[in-house]
Amino acid sequence: MIHMNNVTKVYPNGSTGVENINLHINKGEFVFIVGSSGSGKSTLMKLLLKELDPTEGDIIINKVKTNELNRRQIPYLRRNLGVVFQDFRLLPNKTGYENVAFAMRVIEAPGRIIRRNVPAVLSLVGLGQKGRSYPNQLSGGEQQRTALARAIANNPPILICAEPTGNLDPETAYGIMKLLDDINKRGTTIVMATHARDIVDAMQKRVVTIHKGMIVSDE
Ligand code: ADP
Ligand code: MG
Repeated sequence: MIHMNNVTKVYPNGSTGVENINLHINKGEFVFIVGSSGSGKSTLMKLLLKELDPTEGDIIINKVKTNELNRRQIPYLRRNLGVVFQDFRLLPNKTGYENVAFAMRVIEAPGRIIRRNVPAVLSLVGLGQKGRSYPNQLSGGEQQRTALARAIANNPPILICAEPTGNLDPETAYGIMKLLDDINKRGTTIVMATHARDIVDAMQKRVVTIHKGMIVSDE
């Protein structure tokens, strides 16, 4: 489902983000990407999301070589990848419902599908009653659950999570992990970058460790 073949990213200033990454992730897997600060986790996530293109190597997502996609073909990625960030990135002047609906309108989902899916994903994350609230009326955990609802609203086969629990207290973080585990059990492939060792230990999933831009263990 995801293949990174000999992927290297060197930034314009000459510093290496990741080096010769070979990573293969099967459909339905739940994979943690761990490593200390500066090890290359964010670079790897940005490469998967095509926020960056590799200097060398290929990235293949769902059979498509994304490093060869042009700007017009980017919607392909939006349909295949859901994304959750540490800082939620909700639109502040839209309600929770509108935030989720907006992500569906971007990929031109029909109105009736939007009206069906938005309440369904909001209730899946336990926010069935909070769709009318604006982000600043929600707790951190509720904001992240809204962001998670938005990420899965288009039913993407892959969910990319960049430190999704980084701004949350341990109990709230645990709730988010429980939801991610449920989403994974429904068939979504999940790649999650984190340095929350306790969460990684508790979840018992595949753990890919990077150090200085290189994969040093995969177990
Ligand atoms: P992590 O997310 O694990 O903390 P990063 O992917 O952010 O690691 O960083 C990996 C390496 O790439 C570091 O050496 C960092 O300094 C470098 N790096 C990250 N972003 C940039 C950038 N925009 N320009 C230059 N170097 C960068
Ligand atoms: Mg980072």
